[in-house]
Amino acid sequence: MAVCIAGFGSCREDREVKDEFQWVVDRFDDIRVLKYQVPEFDSLSLNDKLLVYYLGQAALCGRDILFDQNGKYNLRIRRTLESIYQGYTGDREDERFKQFEKYLKKVWFANGIHHHYSTDKFRPEFQEAYFDLLVRETPREFFPTDFGDVDQVIRTIKPIMFDPDTMAKRVNLAAGEDLIVTSANNYYEGVTQKEVEEYYAARIDTTDPKPVSYGLNSKMVKDASGRITERVWRVGGMYSAAIEKIVEWLEKASEVAEGQQKKTIDELIAYYKSGRLRDFDRYNVLWLEDTASRVDFVNGFIESYGDALGYRGAWEGLVNFRDEAATHRTETISNMAQWFEDHSPIDPQFRKKEVKGVSAKVITAAMLGGDCYPATPIGINLPNSDWIRRDHGSKSVTIGNITYAYEEAAKGSGFAEEFMYEEETIDRYKRYGSLADNLHTDLHECLGHGSGCLAEGVRGDELKNYSSTLEEARADLFALYYLADPKMVELGLIPTLDVAKAAYAQYMLNGLMTQLARIELGKNVEEAHMRNRKLIAEWCYEKGREQNVVEKVRRNGKTYVVVHDYDKLRGLFGELLREIQRIKSTGDFEAGRDLVETYAVRIDPELHKEVRERYAKLDLPLFSGFVNPIYRPVMENGQIVDVTVEYTDDYVGQMLEYSKEYSYLPSVN
Ligand code: ZN
Repeated sequence: MAVCIAGFGSCREDREVKDEFQWVVDRFDDIRVLKYQVPEFDSLSLNDKLLVYYLGQAALCGRDILFDQNGKYNLRIRRTLESIYQGYTGDREDERFKQFEKYLKKVWFANGIHHHYSTDKFRPEFQEAYFDLLVRETPREFFPTDFGDVDQVIRTIKPIMFDPDTMAKRVNLAAGEDLIVTSANNYYEGVTQKEVEEYYAARIDTTDPKPVSYGLNSKMVKDASGRITERVWRVGGMYSAAIEKIVEWLEKASEVAEGQQKKTIDELIAYYKSGRLRDFDRYNVLWLEDTASRVDFVNGFIESYGDALGYRGAWEGLVNFRDEAATHRTETISNMAQWFEDHSPIDPQFRKKEVKGVSAKVITAAMLGGDCYPATPIGINLPNSDWIRRDHGSKSVTIGNITYAYEEAAKGSGFAEEFMYEEETIDRYKRYGSLADNLHTDLHECLGHGSGCLAEGVRGDELKNYSSTLEEARADLFALYYLADPKMVELGLIPTLDVAKAAYAQYMLNGLMTQLARIELGKNVEEAHMRNRKLIAEWCYEKGREQNVVEKVRRNGKTYVVVHDYDKLRGLFGELLREIQRIKSTGDFEAGRDLVETYAVRIDPELHKEVRERYAKLDLPLFSGFVNPIYRPVMENGQIVDVTVEYTDDYVGQMLEYSKEYSYLPSVN
């Protein structure tokens, strides 16, 4: 089964009233900063609120660790920039000061001086001479006391900031180069790629069925005598000052946690104290097996994308709790799996006699830290250790409120106004678009892929290079067909069939037009999910042409997609589902190939150009990240009796606050 980008969410209808919530809080360069809601926080028990609060504090305490992991000079640079930002006595309206501010915002966003995604070093737009002026006109008391000689620090960091060839890339993956020496991260010092490889070749026992994640929690250095050692990130080791704070908050969390979760947190504390990777594995197994607790978390050295050789883990923190409403929705669908199969518009002989739905957990993020902040994933699948996954499985979750924030922010982008023909369609899209999206994903993932069966003698590999496109189309059509079924309303999954109308209009627009924006002019559609959408949209457009089911309308030189008859469109989805199921069940390669080649690959160059131009004018940012909510304990007689949640629109304020309140590491580590 293909892995699809899921977008579960929770109880959207309830939130429609919160229209005035301002999703976008800042915008600079190619980046947009959003905020996310934690809607069910108030309904948590006091114990769960306390867990979120304590684990949330623990998630904020490792921010400096990530800055230092991302580059040896990052903390010195960040603190210098922050000192200037707060203390500079000169003209703040100067164009160059705005450029300076933008640079600082980017450094905060990337947790260092390299772009969080491309890992290329950013170039300040202001000149070195202007930087000198800023330093001169900032009173010395604003600089950190551990700088000692401020001028010496400035001399050290200037080439790092301004020389394009110095530390140019955080993670270099270019084949043929020394990936360790040429990567600017702070995971290694004084060693070459060959030395690192030899070091692990000598230590990793390939016969061990349960190997630890070598190198995950240490920096590798060569000392003065030429000996290679690992500086372990633990209490009493490297980054101790920050790790001690993390442990302090984890201990408070342990006091209010119960059962398996308490054991899990205690094991994590033990690992942070010992630095032993076996302890980390033990912790992971406990964490994995705890599926009952509503509040959950990630805290530690986890993902190794920042190390070109993939050993060392970037520090990250995430606190979340199960979204009961959304998880209920996926369970409702899963429990009804047999009914959906029995009523599917396919040839009865290809229906599955016994189906099992797959359910997925949907979570609400409550706090993001380290490598999850401000840029954050929308889904998580952990732990990374292969043997733990093999023997114990993994936890796979979708972060509903983050996906929701993305969708809501997209509504203010002008996308709907640019591409949708009628007010009515725009309204339905804004009102039901995200519910439609989520339900579509649920149906596609939980039921669509698992439905249907093969005819006797068919192996399943007959469709060859067309199989993934046709498989995605089958799952999408299953979802589209059932979205408009009265059963959806009956099950309480949607308030009205208008949700299906929103889904249909959006799907046809995307399949016929807007998804083309992501493809370069002159190229064909290649990716399976995109081919599938084009196949479905183009086929239905053509088959319904005579009856004018879907029309391409021109107005003021622009093309629009208008659905005239939603019932007939549903009929066409059912018809195509029946045909694609037949193709799969009988392994009819020729018919599958003809469908894909006729409808899914080639793009009308005129329309392509038009879509690209209209899309470009919307000026949508390429990357998004988030500010965190603020949690405050309510005290009564020295006891916490409640925890409240507030939202901030102040990206700069949050960054400065985190740098003041959660900055535990010295400038040089
Ligand atoms: Zn899929």
